[in-house]
Amino acid sequence: GFKMGIVGLPNVGKSTLFNALTKTAAAQAANFPFCTIEPNVGDVAVPDARLDKLAAIAGSKQIIPTRMTFVDIAGLVKGASKGEGLGNQFLANIRETDAIAHVLRCFEDGDVTHVEDRVNPVEDAEIIETELMIADMESIEKRLQGLSRKVRGGEKEAVEQERLLKAALAVLNDGKPARTVDVAADDRRTWNMLQLLTAKPILYVCNVDEGSAATGNAFSDAVAEMAAAQGASTVVISAQIEEEIAQLSDEEATEFLSEMGLEEPGLDRLIQAGYELLSLETYFTVGPKEARAWTIRHGTSAPKAAGVIHGDFEKGFIRAETIAYDDFVTLGGEQPAKEAGKMRAEGKAYTVKDGDVLHFLFNT
Ligand code: GDP
Repeated sequence: GFKMGIVGLPNVGKSTLFNALTKTAAAQAANFPFCTIEPNVGDVAVPDARLDKLAAIAGSKQIIPTRMTFVDIAGLVKGASKGEGLGNQFLANIRETDAIAHVLRCFEDGDVTHVEDRVNPVEDAEIIETELMIADMESIEKRLQGLSRKVRGGEKEAVEQERLLKAALAVLNDGKPARTVDVAADDRRTWNMLQLLTAKPILYVCNVDEGSAATGNAFSDAVAEMAAAQGASTVVISAQIEEEIAQLSDEEATEFLSEMGLEEPGLDRLIQAGYELLSLETYFTVGPKEARAWTIRHGTSAPKAAGVIHGDFEKGFIRAETIAYDDFVTLGGEQPAKEAGKMRAEGKAYTVKDGDVLHFLFNT
């Protein structure tokens, strides 16, 4: 599955957000209940209205949403990378994520201490980014030393790694995060394996006061401006409201949301934004037993998509019977879609599209 790390300075609302994410009715009610892998790791159901629609049409007994993992990564403070250095476990926690949700305090509250004694989310973002950049520079220096013998020996992989590490170091020395390196398509795989902290795609989460949940405020506007300059995106939420909503039933939540002037829970927008950030898409398997959603990256081939369900599906892949979501819904299910000639047999070269309803045929 895909993993988002929640980072930010202390007292910005990370835990509040994490608790909200893992307590929602959707997370609880799903067939695979929210499970705490570790206290700070939670699997969250990805809300998708299409899945309910498909299940209703097919009369599926069970609805199984796809999941996204969130990790609450506490412990980043100013100067964290100096002195004792960022703890190994802590760095590993961030390294293992696919993307970063950076929570910024965009609310004023005299009762909640700000570690820097003022509310300034843009400067807060810079503090955290600086710590991560320093950590990256240190790890790059170490890795370059470690590689030097292999590079002299002409090992191809080491040479490639060295070249990319040096490119990263150059932008970092320039005060910019590693994600600003222009990486060629051929280098992507090696680049991702380097797991640089500041190379991870980033999403800024503006935690605003209750009254600003629908509109944002001056703080979140400033963050949006900063994010736009970086080509990053932002989500405005009130972690406190989200935590309250998470405890409500679906009907109560809908009522509460409309009172607040919100169309959907901020968490749904956050998960959606995470999906977009990682170029993720969803395909469905639908039958009388269950309707289930599966996550893939944009551009995934049919055999690789099958592999998300089971490795054997990928190995023995023959073809995928495919119905586009719109056809399935408009025509009223698999059989009518088939009769209308809207069920396609797609082979190994097929690129799965968001919303595809798939049925895999494979050799065992
Ligand atoms: P963390 O250290 O980043 O994990 O922050 P927490 O989630 O523990 O929140 C720190 C404090 O801020 C707690 O007392 C929260 O109740 C409070 N808090 C979190 N979000 C909001 C918010 O949107 N508005 C207000 N007023 N307080 C908040």
